[in-house]
Amino acid sequence: MAQPSQADIFAALTAQAQAPLRRDSPSTSPYSAFSDPVEDLTTSRPGATIEAVDEKENQGRVNNRRIYCPREGCGSWIMSEGVGEWMTVDGPVLPIDPSSPFPPAPTISSRTPFWHITSSPFAFDNIGFSKPDTSTKLPPHAPGQETSGLKGKTQVKWLICAECDLGPLGWSYEGGKEAWLAVERVKYGEVKKVQ
Ligand SMILES: [Zn+2]
Repeated sequence: MAQPSQADIFAALTAQAQAPLRRDSPSTSPYSAFSDPVEDLTTSRPGATIEAVDEKENQGRVNNRRIYCPREGCGSWIMSEGVGEWMTVDGPVLPIDPSSPFPPAPTISSRTPFWHITSSPFAFDNIGFSKPDTSTKLPPHAPGQETSGLKGKTQVKWLICAECDLGPLGWSYEGGKEAWLAVERVKYGEVKKVQ
């Protein structure tokens, strides 16, 4: 069988780069539409036993809906079902900007929920990262700083929409593999019906 030529490979890569990004599902809802976020937005990780799911922290629960950019008219597909693990931390993490289009971070029993992604950027369908932000330090309770061993020095890279640059939708760290996506800054698709 003939090997593809350099030109073929280049053409394929170019086509890939220019392929339209996957778009909005017919119906998406903001976080505020869900009265019981853990019940409405998560499911046990496939294969997880009941015992493996910590009921208090809801560890082991993953998003049951596809996640999209919240910007009207964008709706870029950010993350598929079953990728982000529900977690909560001691307080808000993302900087609060009065001019931001985002709602305030929700609290559940005084803790702030996030989607934890452990193999960023490959776990996302479409996501952008800012340049390392040398001017912003996240609060000490922000996860990811401890495990990196670089607490206080770690440079933050903001998660932004790959298509329209809206953000920050969450954060990651320079050189790190993990990312945290703000539950209230994205939109959610319908739950897929189990056949
Ligand atoms: Zn967008």
